[in-house]
Amino acid sequence: MSESTPSNSLDRYRNLAERALAGEAPSEAEAIWILEGDDVELLPLLQAAYEPRRAAFGRKVMVHVLNNVQNGLCPEDCGYCSQNKDSAAAIRKYAMKSDEAIMAEAEAAAKAGATRYCMVLSGRGPTVERTKRIGKLVREIKENFPIEVCLSAGLMGDEHAQILKEAGLDRMNHNLNTSERRYDDITSTHTYADRVATLEAAKRNGIESCSGMIVGMGEASADIIEVAFKLRELEVPSIPVNFLIPITGNQVQNDGSLTPEHCLRALSLMRFVNPTAEIRVAGGREGHLRTMQPFALYPANSLFVEGYLTTKGDPVEETYAMIRDAGFEIDGNEFYDEIETAKSGDSQFRIPGGGDQLLKPEIAEA
Ligand code: SF4
Repeated sequence: MSESTPSNSLDRYRNLAERALAGEAPSEAEAIWILEGDDVELLPLLQAAYEPRRAAFGRKVMVHVLNNVQNGLCPEDCGYCSQNKDSAAAIRKYAMKSDEAIMAEAEAAAKAGATRYCMVLSGRGPTVERTKRIGKLVREIKENFPIEVCLSAGLMGDEHAQILKEAGLDRMNHNLNTSERRYDDITSTHTYADRVATLEAAKRNGIESCSGMIVGMGEASADIIEVAFKLRELEVPSIPVNFLIPITGNQVQNDGSLTPEHCLRALSLMRFVNPTAEIRVAGGREGHLRTMQPFALYPANSLFVEGYLTTKGDPVEETYAMIRDAGFEIDGNEFYDEIETAKSGDSQFRIPGGGDQLLKPEIAEA
C-alpha cells in the first residue's frame, strides 16, 4: 500500500470508491491488494465498487443475448475456444446462418426484453463482401426491432469498420482476453497487437468498442491488472469479464483459481480501474460464481442471458428473477415491460427442489 493509504480498513474501501467516483484509478499496489490481500473483506469491497457503478448506471442491469451466427470452422488456435482448429471439443460446426434465421433470432432476443443482440462469427475476420452482408443485417435488425446491435467477427480494419458504421452498428467486440505478456501462451495465429488494432479501427470509425478478458487461464494478478489498465487506456466503454469455462477438448483448462471470491475481486478491480464503463459479468458466471452470482451485480451492471457461444447458461427467467431478487432493475426494451406485467401477479414462492409439490412425499397424501 502507498504511504497515503488510509490506515483504518473501512477508510481504504471508502478511499477507493471516492477516487473511482472522481475518475482516478487505484495504484498498482492497491490493485494487487484488491486481488490478493488477505485482509480484504468482500462486502466492503463490493460496496465500494458499487459506488461508481451506481453513479454511472443506478440500479439498472443491461441484458445481452449472444447469437453464434457461424460456429467452428475457424483457422485460429485460441486455446480457450471450442471452435479453434485444434480443439477436440464436440461441437456442431456450421457456416454463416441464413439471413432469415439471424433475423428470427434477433426478434426472439428483442422479445426476451434484451437491451442488446450480439452477433458472433467464428473465424479470423470477415472479408469485405461478408462485412457488407453483415451490415445489411445490422440495418434490418435495427429497423425492425427495439434492440441495439453488436458484432464480434474477428480482426477488422478501417474498410470493414466504415461499412459497419454506415449500417448503424452500435458496438464492435474484440476481447483482449489476457495480457500482452501471456498472449502467445493462448494463441499463436494472431497477436495481441492485431487485437488492439481492431479496437482502434472501430474507434477511428466512430463505432463503440467492446473488449474484455477471460480470467482463469493461468494468469498472475499482474496480467489481470495489465488488461484492466489497457482497457482504461483504450477508453473501452464496454468490458465483458469472462471466467474460463472448462470445455473438454480445449487446450486451455481451468487453472483452479476461480473461486466465487476471486471472480468478485476481479470484477471489483475492473470497476475501480474503469469506473464509468459498462462492465459485464460474462461467460462462466453461473459455474464459477454459483450462489454468489447476485453479488456480481455490485461491480458489474450487465450480463448475458441464455448462454454463451458454445455452452449453456441459466434460462432468461431464472436470471431475471435473480436480478429482481437482489433489488436491481432490468434495463429492458419495450417488450420487457410486457414480460414484467405478465409476471407481476405470480406467486413469488419458489418450491424447493423444483416440480409443483411442496409437501414432502412421505408427508403428502397419496
Ligand atoms: S476465439 Fe474466435 S478466432 Fe479464436 S478460435 Fe475461437 S472463433 Fe476462432
